[in-house]
Amino acid sequence: MARIFNFSAGPAVMPEQVLVQARDEMLDWHGSGMSVMEMSHRGKEFISIAASAEADLRALLAIPANYKVLFMQGGAQAQFALVPMNLLGSATTADYVDTGQWSKKAIQEAKRYCTPAVAASSEKERHTRVPDRAQWRLNPNAAYVHYTSNETIGGVEFHWIPDTGSVPLVCDMSSDILSRPLDVSRFGLIYAGAQKNIGPAGLTVVIVRDDLLGRAMPATPAVFDYKAQAEAESMLNTPPTYAMYLAGLTFKWLQGQGGLAAIERRNIEKAALVYELLDQTEFYRCPVRREDRSRMNIAFTLRDAALDEPFLKEAKQQGLAELKGHRSVGGMRASIYNAMPLAGVKALVDFMREFERRHG
Ligand SMILES: *Cc1c(COP(=O)(O)O)cnc(C)c1O
Repeated sequence: MARIFNFSAGPAVMPEQVLVQARDEMLDWHGSGMSVMEMSHRGKEFISIAASAEADLRALLAIPANYKVLFMQGGAQAQFALVPMNLLGSATTADYVDTGQWSKKAIQEAKRYCTPAVAASSEKERHTRVPDRAQWRLNPNAAYVHYTSNETIGGVEFHWIPDTGSVPLVCDMSSDILSRPLDVSRFGLIYAGAQKNIGPAGLTVVIVRDDLLGRAMPATPAVFDYKAQAEAESMLNTPPTYAMYLAGLTFKWLQGQGGLAAIERRNIEKAALVYELLDQTEFYRCPVRREDRSRMNIAFTLRDAALDEPFLKEAKQQGLAELKGHRSVGGMRASIYNAMPLAGVKALVDFMREFERRHG
């Protein structure tokens, strides 16, 4: 069996230890004689799996007691609708910060439910940076302020948490949740699709402050009503059980790695290896402003786009896969989530130096 280094933006690499454990437990979970896939979500075995997953996530992120953790379905894009449906209440507007394609999609979807305002945008800079907080025009009557902490496509990441006063802060953290310690108390709501840094697609994690529950529009489907799901401990309907189990194993793996402070140090080290190379040469280029560069998704171009295809082909031959940039922006993108080992990043950097030596 040969495992490649998988730089996919998502669904993405998982910790190998997690996959091995899932394999070992596939047919018989802890002497139950069943696979986790085959268990009733209301049985004591699965209830214990779900409870551990939540407890471990709470411990990792130090989630305060007045926040609910929900395990939902529909991915981050469902949340683009569920956030306004659940949080608008009597307000008719919400503020959005536009830092790239995922924020834009969130804004677009919110238009079905309210009149979202773009409080700040880096569109003029072609989304190569985060807009400075001093430039944001926030509305004190907005239901919430929404931003995307890491733009997975553009490779632009917030390395600070915006202060929005008494207006609840909502964040799409799909591609950088659990990559560093987080002060959850700064947020009204955080959501993340699982398939980047948590586990398999099909699971969405929502962390919501409890005073924001109970404002859902009457038309909100019950399974998408945060309050109803919080009261049912995410089991109003059948949750994505196997994905929750794998997420739980990933949380345990993160604890074994030393928790989020340790994983952040490794993520900084990994990203620095690639950015240092990009900045050393004219052959490669990273368009993103230094302070706002993502530690998770590194977007870069080759000076000569005619070399894109040979780059991807030769990388693949060396076991470095999925480096092609998003179809909308072209170029390259190396996604180096928590589960990408340092060895994978070193192999990428060695390959890039060698490729430049031969083609530069
Ligand atoms: C991947 C991603 C999404 C979309 O997730 P889906 O599961 O396809 O809905 C949204 N926002 C961000 C930041 C992402 O990285």
